[in-house]
Amino acid sequence: MSSDLPVEMTLPTLADPSAPTTWREHAACQKEGNFIFFASSEKDQAINICRSCTVQEDCLNFAISNKMKDGVWGGQYFGRKK
Ligand code: SF4
Repeated sequence: MSSDLPVEMTLPTLADPSAPTTWREHAACQKEGNFIFFASSEKDQAINICRSCTVQEDCLNFAISNKMKDGVWGGQYFGRKK
């Protein structure tokens, strides 16, 4: 699957198709829409989904390593810098 969205605006499962996918295959957000993970008004709902995710640590490490600036990753909100 591909996306025209910039990497920081895609779900972990879509962020970098060339990266190893082991942890992404287990992402609890696979069946969710992008909206709740990138709308600050929906961040609590997204974080609740992350709490049940078995790859939360991998996702958070990915977000930190890639300096994500927006969205919910690994149960943390990476607020957009203004
Ligand atoms: S921790 Fe959250 S954003 Fe990351 S893969 Fe799991 S459900 Fe998706």
